[in-house]
Amino acid sequence: MFESLSDRLTGALKDLRGKGRLTDSDIDATAREIRLALLDADVSLPVVRTFIANVKERAKGSEVSAALNPAQQIVKIVNEELVGILGGETRRIQLAKTPPTVIMLAGLQGAGKTTLAGKLSKWLAGQGHTPMLVACDLQRPGAVQQLQIVGERAGVPVFAPHPGTSVGGEGTLGVSSGDPVAVAQAGVAEAKTRQHDVVIIDTAGRLGIDAELMRQASDIRDATSPDEVLFVLDAMIGQDAVSTAQAFAEGVDFTGVVLTKLDGDARGGAALSVREITGRPIMFASTGEKLEDFDVFHPDRMASRILG
Ligand code: GDP
Repeated sequence: MFESLSDRLTGALKDLRGKGRLTDSDIDATAREIRLALLDADVSLPVVRTFIANVKERAKGSEVSAALNPAQQIVKIVNEELVGILGGETRRIQLAKTPPTVIMLAGLQGAGKTTLAGKLSKWLAGQGHTPMLVACDLQRPGAVQQLQIVGERAGVPVFAPHPGTSVGGEGTLGVSSGDPVAVAQAGVAEAKTRQHDVVIIDTAGRLGIDAELMRQASDIRDATSPDEVLFVLDAMIGQDAVSTAQAFAEGVDFTGVVLTKLDGDARGGAALSVREITGRPIMFASTGEKLEDFDVFHPDRMASRILG
């Protein structure tokens, strides 16, 4: 992903090399090319506007450095603005003062929530945590079992609503199998009892946004007071990424974003707009189907990757 954006941006900036001095029209021409590159990559229009305005203002302003030639100066500005729209600093998970830390996952069906639950739990276990997964996607047939398989691969126990399916535990959990809110609450209570320090709650997704999905997610949120609500966003869905993120920001009020399928070949710019549009940080990136294809999202590294 981002290869074409990367080529276009580096191409636009390359044209400036060797110029001893940049006129305002050199800057305008470069800004125009950058603007088109961002728009063609599906970066959202308001984000592009702000980005370009900032780059132009800074490039034409008095940001003069003796150490850098004018072309390098613009590359530096573009890089910094890119890091800015991607969130600036790397944002780490906020751990609860009193364990367990509760992390809830939300997003559309197929976004990669269940896969992410496995990746995140394995990653946390690698950091010395003792996570437990809670299966609250009771909508999609097979979702609970899928989480159990993922949990098994990650070596992390899964709390599930049906009697006898609580891996590594006593089995029967006295909750109605049809009520995801009750399952979530029972799961958090179970984690406390078993002294797991992190609980990851997988929730149901729908193929599109709907009121019931939002209500269920916000009910689970209210019932479990999560420390983090992670909105899982498939970077392959293109421009729908922005409207989906906005709907979830209003409906569930997430605290962070996980971008998935960054290994895909879609343009991906819409996903890059999500931090600017929602004000919530991108915290993790998923880059494949395997449990290891996952990392903390670093805005500076992503910007460097895009700028080649
Ligand atoms: P959920 O419905 O949100 O729980 O989504 P799933 O976790 O079931 O994922 C949907 C599909 O996307 C599965 O086939 C996953 O293997 C796949 N998937 C998840 N994350 C990634 C990723 O980062 N890259 C790729 N290529 N596929 C992914």
